[in-house]
Amino acid sequence: MSSLDSRIVVVGDSIAGCTAVRELRARGHEGSIVMIGADDDGCYAKPPLSKHVLKGEAAAAETWDLSDLDITAIVDPAASLNTARRIVTTTAGIDVPYDALIVATGAVARRIAGPGQAGETVLRTFADVHALRPKLDAARTAIVVGAGFLGMEVASACAARGIAVTVVDVDPPLQRLLGSFLSDAIVARAEAASVQFVRTDAPVALVGEPVTGIEFADTQLTADVVVTCAGDVPQTEWLDGAGIADGIGVGIDYLCATAVPGVFAAGDVAYARAASRRAPFWSNAVAQGKVAAASALGLEPTCAPADDYFWTEVLGLSIKVVGPLPLHGEPIVLEGSMEDGSALLQWNHDDGRTTFVAYGIKKAVGLLRRLARDSAVPTT
Ligand SMILES: Cc1cc2nc3c(=O)[nH]c(=O)nc-3n(C[C@H](O)[C@H](O)[C@H](O)COP(=O)(O)OP(=O)(O)OC[C@H]3O[C@@H](n4cnc5c(N)ncnc54)[C@H](O)[C@@H]3O)c2cc1C
Repeated sequence: MSSLDSRIVVVGDSIAGCTAVRELRARGHEGSIVMIGADDDGCYAKPPLSKHVLKGEAAAAETWDLSDLDITAIVDPAASLNTARRIVTTTAGIDVPYDALIVATGAVARRIAGPGQAGETVLRTFADVHALRPKLDAARTAIVVGAGFLGMEVASACAARGIAVTVVDVDPPLQRLLGSFLSDAIVARAEAASVQFVRTDAPVALVGEPVTGIEFADTQLTADVVVTCAGDVPQTEWLDGAGIADGIGVGIDYLCATAVPGVFAAGDVAYARAASRRAPFWSNAVAQGKVAAASALGLEPTCAPADDYFWTEVLGLSIKVVGPLPLHGEPIVLEGSMEDGSALLQWNHDDGRTTFVAYGIKKAVGLLRRLARDSAVPTT
């Protein structure tokens, strides 16, 4: 059997898995493809959930239709993997054999509730948005735990609804990724929209069941809604004992190959072994989905397994970033001004690479990519 008519199983039906499936067919795979998913809401994009769907601007999430690809879709979470026999077994006990396997099970929201404590609110899935929206409809006050991009998007949705929101984190908003220059600008913008920030080094605990507030050190805060946006955890439990996952996630090389022959991985579940940390962003999931598919077929990938484009929306302002993160120091302002909330910014890194940020200014991603490519200084 050539690899173009082999049996390929993709576990995970979000952007990394769906991209892999589409790439398998695009690269000429004629054999069977089985996609195993776990979400009753099907295949959908997560970034709009915290932007438009949470605000109530779109009734449904952006979904994908794979019916043209002749695949077998199973909605029953993978429960275990036997790499010696090359079989994935689902929770209902269905055995799914493979010649090549693509692991794309992504991540789940990191939770901070105590053992057995119920009622924590997180935002990762369409079901989470369905649960959160009515709470926001009735809320006058909210607490968001975590000032990363997700926490700031949830805080923005609260502010847009006129909810008084307090964001709690150890660091200022988005500072870990975007550095102090942009973080300071975001704080100024947020405070003008009555978003409060509280910083604490102490662990934050949820109070009440249902949750009515948080406590840290000697401080207690209460609100109508408390949302935890404390990062994500790679979904690797079903791989226990298979020798594929570790404490970081599923380690992959530049071909998205794992440590086990015939098993590839893509998206938020994966991390580049060379970097030893996950980079759980949309564009990486797309790039790795393509690379994993090509590698599963024994073909040359058409792109790199990483794509350093990232975007977010904070308090009505779109921020697009192309280039390496984190950012340090002050940028060159190429166009516009920070005061006007519309600027094109350039950071030059010590290694010769550059990062371009469109801060509230309309710039196509293609243009930012071109700028980053053309301005990189060769290091050899
Ligand atoms: C609310 C929100 C907003 C975001 N906004 C941005 C943004 O603005 N910009 C950006 O770059 N990134 C953003 N991201 C991150 C981006 O959405 C992720 O990087 C991307 O979704 C990763 O895709 P993935 O397919 O690897 O994993 P996921 O999207 O996590 O999907 C994994 C899929 O696998 C399924 N699954 C899990 N376990 C199993 C199992 N055992 N068996 C079968 N299936 C299983 C899950 O049901 C899920 O459908 C956002 C994420 C969220 C949650």
